[in-house]
Amino acid sequence: MTNDQQPAESSDLQEREARFDYGFRMKCDCGELSDLSAAGYIERESLDARIACSHCGTSIHYGRAVAGIRDRHDPALDNSAVARFAWYHSSTSPDWPSPDYTSRFAARVREAELRLGHRYGTHIERAKALHVGTYEAAVENMLRRMRDQDDATSSFYLYRVSLGISAGRINDGYREANNEPASQISLDELQALGLDALRYLNTHEAIGSLSLAIHPRVIRSLQVVPLPVTDLAAPQPPALSQRLRELEAELDSLQAAAREQLQVRDSPLQALRRRMSERTGVTPSTTAVEGEWALWEQVVAELSAHHLHGISPLVQRDFCHALEDWRRSREAAMDEFASFFAALAATLTRPSDVMQRLAQGTGPANGSRGSTKL
Ligand SMILES: [Zn+2]
Repeated sequence: MTNDQQPAESSDLQEREARFDYGFRMKCDCGELSDLSAAGYIERESLDARIACSHCGTSIHYGRAVAGIRDRHDPALDNSAVARFAWYHSSTSPDWPSPDYTSRFAARVREAELRLGHRYGTHIERAKALHVGTYEAAVENMLRRMRDQDDATSSFYLYRVSLGISAGRINDGYREANNEPASQISLDELQALGLDALRYLNTHEAIGSLSLAIHPRVIRSLQVVPLPVTDLAAPQPPALSQRLRELEAELDSLQAAAREQLQVRDSPLQALRRRMSERTGVTPSTTAVEGEWALWEQVVAELSAHHLHGISPLVQRDFCHALEDWRRSREAAMDEFASFFAALAATLTRPSDVMQRLAQGTGPANGSRGSTKL
């Protein structure tokens, strides 16, 4: 290791408070940042997505592209503090980074060196850097993957990462990822910069927080927990359970009606309905499907009101979309959906308990393991 400081043991890592009720700061051309709450973000998002700069009054077209750092004094800006903090990463892999990540990397480097010799003074390795960030960024990364990729029903693992990294091997300040994408940075680019970690502004998850693109050799130890941590789930209060049973009964009726409509498709009755729908523009089957959607929306609203209290409306929206995709992909029944919703919601509402669970390294799939070093 090329440290000039003693990295923290994973048990001594410093946690930063995780909160999902944050707002944003948007950049104006005048160079200043203006505050924007999550509620304010949603309010004008589908209108013009504009706010007035609180410094010069110019209209800012807000969004990820102009998101600024949330905390100008973010403690992770201090290079000597980086290795003291717990960093997080979420993955569908139970053994991230895969044990052979570094050996495959090393084999490719050796192969390239044999092929090219050292005459170029470098090698052509393009292995991507690994990424770690705040707890919020790791959790929101999981929600994004559940929504945007084919991972709606994948198993996810949350990693707590301890870094052994020299203060001099981290860039000063942070890279504005909007200008120079950091998500695709390769290990040889890191090497060319003389860095083991590139600090950058995350504008995709936990917008406005700081993440790191790292060389795998600086991972000192890992602790992992599968998500959700089911025993942290808040119980459903009787009133909510009762409401869910009512909605489930309505859903059963709607589904029975939809089946009946399918069965009588070619009957005289269906022909009559079709003629009627041609006049009214509403078909019975569409009505049943729309009824089901509306009903599931009510289910999500009831569950959100109870389990996502205090979470920013934007994160709530992302969470609910992710859970909807999970439900549709699994064709989950009401009970299963409500249980999973409650369990995953605890990841957002009880971060310190999840962190503690990780730090303890208890549970069947948990534990800390040393990283593979190059
Ligand atoms: Zn301005």
